[in-house]
Amino acid sequence: MKDDTDQDIDISWDLIRSELKKSLDKDTYQNWIKPIHFESQIGASLTLSVHTRFLRDWIIKNYASVIKRSYLDLGVTVEKLSILVKENNNRIIPGTEVVFQDKEDEDDQYYDDISAPLDPQFTFDNFIVGKPNELAYAAAQRVAQSEVVSFNPLFLYGGVGLGKTHLMHAVAWNIKKRNPKKNVVYLTAEKFMYQFIKALRFKNIMSFKEQFRSVDVLMIDDVQFIIGKDNTQEEFFHTFNTLIDKKRQIIISADKSPADLEGLEDRLKSRLGWGLVADIHPLTYELRLGIIQAKAEQKSMKLTTDVLEFLADKITNNVREMEGALNRLAVHASLQDSDITVDLVKDVLKDLLRTNSRKITIDEIQKKVVEHYNIKLSDMHSPRRSRSVARPRQVAMYLAKSITTRSLPEIGRKFGGRDHTTVIHAIKTIEEIMVNDPNLAEDIELLTRILQTS
Ligand code: ADP
Ligand code: MG
Repeated sequence: MKDDTDQDIDISWDLIRSELKKSLDKDTYQNWIKPIHFESQIGASLTLSVHTRFLRDWIIKNYASVIKRSYLDLGVTVEKLSILVKENNNRIIPGTEVVFQDKEDEDDQYYDDISAPLDPQFTFDNFIVGKPNELAYAAAQRVAQSEVVSFNPLFLYGGVGLGKTHLMHAVAWNIKKRNPKKNVVYLTAEKFMYQFIKALRFKNIMSFKEQFRSVDVLMIDDVQFIIGKDNTQEEFFHTFNTLIDKKRQIIISADKSPADLEGLEDRLKSRLGWGLVADIHPLTYELRLGIIQAKAEQKSMKLTTDVLEFLADKITNNVREMEGALNRLAVHASLQDSDITVDLVKDVLKDLLRTNSRKITIDEIQKKVVEHYNIKLSDMHSPRRSRSVARPRQVAMYLAKSITTRSLPEIGRKFGGRDHTTVIHAIKTIEEIMVNDPNLAEDIELLTRILQTS
């Protein structure tokens, strides 16, 4: 039975949902907002739930502030947002809640500001330079320090967790420090899109444009996000041209070079490549060692040379994983009050070391999956939708997402040029079925093990 307050709040989640439906594009709404269930709201503390961890993580990462903002628009302040993972029978999976909390110093102004907050840790001082990132670093420094616009735009690209966002924030801090009057705006392409759509909805396009015209330095992060969003791309192109004409500095980041951003309009591609294009390469052993040393020092962890070298040798994907590894080691060492030895590292980081041990490719995944289900390799790429091939294909997409670091569009392309939304659908389908079907869960576990040990 529900009491009155419950009812009120239920209605207001419906309201929030319908607001979000108006402001987000259809796919985004269907994929990420619709599956969310309302749990409770106590004071400024809001609890929602979803069926899978994948959904939870994605929503927390990408839509938490959008949800909070919608509440605020209706006069409700949300300070803490938790998302639980619930199985279909409504049992809460233990240990799966993630809490998103605003930093103390973010006041309401944040919501009117087009710029996103900057991470205080992302400074030039905290950035370790080596061969793979020296060009990007030098270019960022130059942009931060020169009084005139030197190259416009500066386009930074590289894989996940290699320091693109870090460098952009570092430039922003630096310019703000030297020149507090300068209007430096940093935001993700996703936020740009959100602001734009919102402006469209509230017929505020003029003030949206006005806001961006008065910017001295504009940084847009992860621009690959606006691929396929035609209206947003168009508006971005205008904003971009206006600022370039006014000789304002622009910095863009993406996961690929402008030429490789498939699906981006040609004129935008070529325009993005006008200035300096700097890529960050995968990290070398030397740079990994340097970064691990610096991060361990920051955390006041005393690591032996053996351990440092072992980590630099084994954890190769990106810096975010190295930070994760160090955090885990720090916790273990303090809980067990033991020294950090190579053996302890091997034990504590088993899973991480396995996924780093060898680059598993999507081709390999497809091969193992077709062997396992006894179907043809061409079925991985074909448009056939019959269950007997569609399900294994979804399994392969799921594995590609969970084992490799490929992006959703990249995975889609490897499966006969499918759209990234198809990949999302596959991942969600498999996650949902796994909850109730132990056979499928076993298949996945087996395939994962085969791939990681072969
Ligand atoms: P990206 O935006 O390219 O995905 P980030 O800038 O978010 O990557 O970096 C991921 C994490 O790794 C951040 O915590 C960042 O501080 C750290 N990091 C990345 N590169 C370096 C580096 N060269 N030196 C120190 N820390 C780094
Ligand atoms: Mg980033």
